[in-house]
Amino acid sequence: MGKTTSINLVGKDEFEVIMGVFAKCTDDYMFLFDLDKDEYIISEKILEKFDLPGNHFFNAGTVLENVVYPEDMPELTEDLEKLKNGMSQEHNMEYRWVDRERRIVWISCRGVVIQDSTQSQKTKILIGRICEIGSKRKADNVTGLFAERQLLLDYEQLKKDKTYKNGVVLRLGVDNFKEINEQHGMETGDTVLKTIARCMELVRGEKDRCYKLDGDEFVLLMEGTDVQRAREHYHTIRVLIEEQRKMEGYQNFYTISAGVVGFSYEKTDFERLHGYSEFALSMAKKNGKNCSYVFAEEDYEAYVKGIKIQEKLRYAVNHDFQGFEIYYQPIVSLETKQVVGAEALLRFFSREYGMLSPGVFIPILEESGLIIPVGEWVYRTAMRQSMVWQKLIPEFRININLSFIQICKSDVVSGIMSSIGELGIEPSTVLFEFTESGMISYDDSVQRLLDVLNENQVKIALDDFGTGYSSLAYLQNLRVNLLKLDRGFTAKAVVNDFDYNLIGHIVTMAHSIGMKICFEGIETEEELQRLQKLGPDYIQGYYYGKPENGEAFYDNHLRKLEQAS
Ligand code: C2E
Ligand code: MG
Ligand code: MG
Repeated sequence: MGKTTSINLVGKDEFEVIMGVFAKCTDDYMFLFDLDKDEYIISEKILEKFDLPGNHFFNAGTVLENVVYPEDMPELTEDLEKLKNGMSQEHNMEYRWVDRERRIVWISCRGVVIQDSTQSQKTKILIGRICEIGSKRKADNVTGLFAERQLLLDYEQLKKDKTYKNGVVLRLGVDNFKEINEQHGMETGDTVLKTIARCMELVRGEKDRCYKLDGDEFVLLMEGTDVQRAREHYHTIRVLIEEQRKMEGYQNFYTISAGVVGFSYEKTDFERLHGYSEFALSMAKKNGKNCSYVFAEEDYEAYVKGIKIQEKLRYAVNHDFQGFEIYYQPIVSLETKQVVGAEALLRFFSREYGMLSPGVFIPILEESGLIIPVGEWVYRTAMRQSMVWQKLIPEFRININLSFIQICKSDVVSGIMSSIGELGIEPSTVLFEFTESGMISYDDSVQRLLDVLNENQVKIALDDFGTGYSSLAYLQNLRVNLLKLDRGFTAKAVVNDFDYNLIGHIVTMAHSIGMKICFEGIETEEELQRLQKLGPDYIQGYYYGKPENGEAFYDNHLRKLEQAS
């Protein structure tokens, strides 16, 4: 327990005046808390952000409950008790307040208890300051650069100054920074950040300013220039980093990506610019890292639309898959010219966007992981539908597309096998299609799925053959039953002898290892006439029918069978 300082305090009114003067010199809030009278005086500007009855009030303990985050109140009360009963003379706490918008604001509150000897009964008074720790950090201790808060202040100032109408933000990020920290330790991580900061300082022009944002990101703010110069800076920084690494004997390896945004002060407020630069950097990383991306409004709009679509998809998943529908496209046996099955193709309808094609929403489902519940809904619905149609065509086979996200990130094999068991569908009439690109990077979960499907007589097809590497080498190992040749391939073969002959050889080879072949995307009589000579087993294409909903599929392809029976 330390000794309490005793001073002759000026009157509280004068103190308020002094605080008003100090408030102009600092972003912190100064306060005086008379612990005995429960009286509280604080810098007036606190009222701009926090819901207090004024800057001078009594019953402080109760009033502060309005602004202190409820969970932190007991700890604060305990600390204040110690100050009141003389067990402690200093207050130093980091805890949370809640602002007028009900947002949490971390504050650091420090103060010292003094005895006011001007009063007849000596009162204990806590004098100190409150500082918002979250938003007030203006500099970064590791790199020595200014931090995000200062970037905001500078941007606002430059906007006011109106020296230039336009500027460019170059936002840099370290690729895989987390791994550097994990594999080589935080110290190496700090060295990397310091190197980048130094290289940025070296390239920047006289008017450019460098900032370190949270995490592994940096900003170079440039005025009166264009995006081309920002890209040049990025390339120079990369060269300098490379030289530095060489000098350090290649101790560590890392790359940096860059997002570049050209802006006009008039049209862009700071928050928007910040969002754009964040997006631009994320695009550079998405495009493979170690590269730069220049902000384009239409990409951003597509990204925002993607987010909106994702919300709609999530909503649909949580509301009984409303909006999703399965379309069916006939698959015809070349030998009998009869429909032998169908491919289940997913559609999504939204009031705002109409019918969306799978090319748009499947990647969003995959990215968000929603493909897992949706994929399950697809195979269960398609199997159920197929069983209805099997009353007309007993061997009717349903082709269902599987995404590699389903395979690698969920226990899809158990889901499929239990659905087959529960529904009682004949396993050999169910076929799963995988795309070639996924097959190439297959891992244990893919192999396990293929093994289980094979053991249970469920059929497997390699989809879109001809769009990727078109390697036949792994087909036999995977024991694929069907090869589906993409329209990109078949359409070329109609006009090009080389592709025509190549497809002929693929058909022969596939048949020689016991695989069937389906030609996809046959649209016209002419295409059919020419390509059927190559001897495929099945044809799928607009010529025999476009994908359509279950009812239309039944009307166009199955009703006649029912009438005949
Ligand atoms: P895919 O599996 O290769 O499906 C064949 C695509 O070719 C379908 O496009 C179909 O409408 C189109 N097509 C069929 N015949 C013709 C033709 O004669 N000419 C032309 N130009 N196109 C034809 P769709 O329905 O837009 O599906 C695109 C892709 O989306 C599918 O390609 C598949 O990879 C994916 N997809 C569709 N439904 C699902 C699903 O339920 N799950 C997963 N994971 N992917 C799906
Ligand atoms: Mg397919
Ligand atoms: Mg295909």
